[in-house]
Amino acid sequence: MRHDAKRALAAIVGDEHVSDRMADRICYSQDCGPDKAGIPAVVVRPKSTEEVSAIVQWANEHHHSIYTRGRATTFLGSGVKDDVIMLETTRMDRIETVDLDAGYVTAQCGAIWHGIDAVLHRDGWELAVPGGGGLFSCTIGGTVAVNAIPHGATEYGMTGDHVLSLEVVLPTGEVIKTGSAANPSSAPIERGSNGPDLTGIFIGAYGILGIITSVTYRLRRIPEVELFRFYAFDDYHDAIDAAGGIQAQAASTFVVALFGGPKPAGETGDAFLHIIVRDRVVAAEARIREAEAICASHHGRSRSAEGTRRYWEDHMYSWLRNTAPGPYYSDRPYFCPEVAGFVSTNQLKHAVAIFREMKAEREEEFAHYGIRVKGLDTYFARNGAYLWIDTLYDERREDAYQYGLKLRGDIAERMFTEGGMSPGGLGAGVAPYIMPKLGETYAFLRRLKASMDPNGVLNPGLLVGEGDLK
Ligand SMILES: Cc1cc2nc3c(=O)[nH]c(=O)nc-3n(C[C@H](O)[C@H](O)[C@H](O)COP(=O)(O)OP(=O)(O)OC[C@H]3O[C@@H](n4cnc5c(N)ncnc54)[C@H](O)[C@@H]3O)c2cc1C
Repeated sequence: MRHDAKRALAAIVGDEHVSDRMADRICYSQDCGPDKAGIPAVVVRPKSTEEVSAIVQWANEHHHSIYTRGRATTFLGSGVKDDVIMLETTRMDRIETVDLDAGYVTAQCGAIWHGIDAVLHRDGWELAVPGGGGLFSCTIGGTVAVNAIPHGATEYGMTGDHVLSLEVVLPTGEVIKTGSAANPSSAPIERGSNGPDLTGIFIGAYGILGIITSVTYRLRRIPEVELFRFYAFDDYHDAIDAAGGIQAQAASTFVVALFGGPKPAGETGDAFLHIIVRDRVVAAEARIREAEAICASHHGRSRSAEGTRRYWEDHMYSWLRNTAPGPYYSDRPYFCPEVAGFVSTNQLKHAVAIFREMKAEREEEFAHYGIRVKGLDTYFARNGAYLWIDTLYDERREDAYQYGLKLRGDIAERMFTEGGMSPGGLGAGVAPYIMPKLGETYAFLRRLKASMDPNGVLNPGLLVGEGDLK
């Protein structure tokens, strides 16, 4: 298949944008996470929607599978199979329209999140969310495809909430636009027009239902000020109650909590809240005073917010723990399987307790395999919490690797069943533990996938197990 595919794909995108060299194929097999994946047969890098459509049509005719990749910054397992066509979108990086009057930007799927923001900043505007922690490298298409949880989620919500329209190449190669932009004479104003919200089925679908080729996204004016606070709590229940109070009063743009992992340098306490407010000057001051009062009423101790400021301005996790990026990010050879998902703010207490309990129960195993807890961190969303559970293992040890992946599955299982957590991140690593538990919802997703992608061309096996399609 390799040589035929290379020739056919080169006829679509040009010789220089197709490779079947082993070195390239290996580099394109994995994401940022620890899961091992298959090796694609050929890598193709289209430049336009027309080229994507032609590739998908060819793959359908010849019954080959395609795996779509942006910048591979997910940690959750790419699920790439051996011998697939790897379609990489980073040449599709054009910003197509900036309309400040209508408040939207349209960009090709491979444009980098922060790159789009940098262009908007010149005019005092920004994307409606600042992006997730991968914002300096992730593509807008990949970020919408996973519905990443962004910085600022406490006020701004999820990445997908601000998508106004998508252009999508369906698994058959047809091209559609969603929302009001489906009307050829209309602008992309809202996605809930021209019938049901078709945009939504591609958000968080991990590319199994179509390849997003262009995204139209809402803008906001850059707020006048950003204010920062940092609080330490001696009991994590108080920290969660304080965060819940801030949510109820809409007193902050972003609240991030730390319940485990290394404590911020120089701090004592059981849990910590980083608080960020972005607004007009008067409103921001009123909101930060309210957040301060809420934290104080829950026994919070106000501490230096310098780490909070650096975290927000640099979007570097290291500063959540008052640590410079160098030492934090060079913590190799440890590798990190992650479980992440939504719980209600109240259930978060239970979820944190479950993980602390699991850690205590497995103390000997953790010591034996050298497992470390990197973080038990939470982004508060508008009406709930998004908990990241990051455990590290020593990647030089095969037994620790196997234990680390098993541990991730066990955590996902317990959090889903006992902790009330619904995973936000669902790559090849966690999906097999969770999707079959969704019952009729999973059955419906399988039927949807089978009817939209009858030849199983796009991202085979991801979210919906291949065997499950039959
Ligand atoms: C340092 C760091 C911090 C991070 N912080 C966060 C965070 O705060 N919040 C968060 O949610 N995530 C975070 N992530 C994860 C990551 O940033 C997101 O998953 C990312 O936005 C995905 O974009 P990508 O271009 O890398 O997509 P990829 O990883 O290449 O792809 C992700 C999935 O989407 C599919 N896909 C990619 N492009 C398309 C497309 N055009 N159409 C259809 N499907 C497509 C792929 O097949 C794959 O299944 C972080 C990552 C890093 C490295």
